[in-house]
Amino acid sequence: MINLEVPGRLRRLVEQAHTVATAVLRPISRKYDLAEHSYPKELDMLAAALDGVRASGRGAVQATGAGKMHQNGTARSGEAAVRNGSHLATLLGMIELSWGDVGLLLTLPRQGLGNSAIAAVATPEQVERFAGKWAAMAITEPDCGSDSAAIRTTASPDGDHYLLNGEKIFVTAGSRADAIVVWATLDRTEGRGAIKSFVVERGTPGLTVSRREDKLGIRASDTATIVLRDCRVPKENLLGSPLIETDRGFAGVMQTFDNTRPLVAGMAVGVARAALDRTAELLAEAGVVVDHDRPVHTQPAAAAALLAMTADWEAAYLLALRAAWMADNGRPNSMQASMAKAKAGRMATEVTLRCVELCGSVGYAEHELLEKWARDAKILDIFEGTQQIQQLIVARRLLGKTSAELR
Ligand SMILES: Cc1cc2nc3c(=O)[nH]c(=O)nc-3n(C[C@H](O)[C@H](O)[C@H](O)COP(=O)(O)OP(=O)(O)OC[C@H]3O[C@@H](n4cnc5c(N)ncnc54)[C@H](O)[C@@H]3O)c2cc1C
Repeated sequence: MINLEVPGRLRRLVEQAHTVATAVLRPISRKYDLAEHSYPKELDMLAAALDGVRASGRGAVQATGAGKMHQNGTARSGEAAVRNGSHLATLLGMIELSWGDVGLLLTLPRQGLGNSAIAAVATPEQVERFAGKWAAMAITEPDCGSDSAAIRTTASPDGDHYLLNGEKIFVTAGSRADAIVVWATLDRTEGRGAIKSFVVERGTPGLTVSRREDKLGIRASDTATIVLRDCRVPKENLLGSPLIETDRGFAGVMQTFDNTRPLVAGMAVGVARAALDRTAELLAEAGVVVDHDRPVHTQPAAAAALLAMTADWEAAYLLALRAAWMADNGRPNSMQASMAKAKAGRMATEVTLRCVELCGSVGYAEHELLEKWARDAKILDIFEGTQQIQQLIVARRLLGKTSAELR
């Protein structure tokens, strides 16, 4: 039987994350939306508190850093057949923190998307060496967005180092994180299999931040352009295997997305729930109360709209849970991760905007956060692979087509 309740062991984590979202993130939400490019210094204390909780081993709230997928796929004898592990825990924590403020979550120290990349492909030695570092992730380039196989940044062997050369754009936390996980090719003629990820620590000569973007939403989060000029990175900072395995194609680095896409879906689920919760409150104040026991067609139009959006939200939530649960249980989840991200990204974009509409001028004005959530939600349908790219991936998997056959 499938039990759709949050497992008891994780319920405390959800409560903790919700408390943090309410007490720490919400009160500074508007401040850093208006003060784009200012570093939210309040987060340093929060990050330190999260480190402390993690170190004490008391479970806990964390944004990213779900571990490597359990490779085996089958439960070993003596182990429980089903596990609810770090992927599910991270996702649930992230939903709550995004309910608080997704822009602030994206700039929470030591919780970058690069941390998930490290968790997905690093060796145990590397996981240990980079523990405690805040890592951003740099894939996108001026000539390479959705088609990540088109990466031009190069990594050339030079003694015990690689020399990295290229430009990375739209790097979330790129000017703030301690390190940047840079995707680069060892040999452009070898195609996707030659693309590897490298941890470039802040302060490495040859790494510069050349600009920071002004954005529609998630303004608390910095988005930087990074230039790499003969940037010398130790060989042991190449994540995973240095071998070019043309038959495995993108497999190594792409595993990052299997980890991060369910998390971005979780962010979308969190932002959308924030909008739904506040809209329900505002409608109730105006005398429109949703009745879950009566047919939709007997209720006011606004209540019916809320019910329809809640159903859409639930579908996205369950898809995100499934993708994370599969990762915890060693089941390949690329298609489910893309399904979750496609559904949640579109749902959050539509739901947050519809909530603005339902609340009229109240929803549009800055007294409320509804207009901000509508702006924040849009990126969740763009980064880590756009809506269209997720649909393409799902179609390829369902139809058994390669990326060359269906593009
Ligand atoms: C605020 C922000 C933060 C970001 N953070 C990061 C980060 O931390 N790290 C990072 O590496 N990148 C980051 N990005 C970049 C983001 O991942 C890319 O913008 C995204 O992958 C899309 O690439 P693109 O912008 O080049 O659009 P394009 O790839 O040029 O796509 C443009 C449009 O065409 C559509 N399209 C493209 N190919 C197809 C196809 N085959 N079929 C159908 N439609 C298609 C796309 O869906 C899109 O609608 C960030 C972007 C933003 C705006």
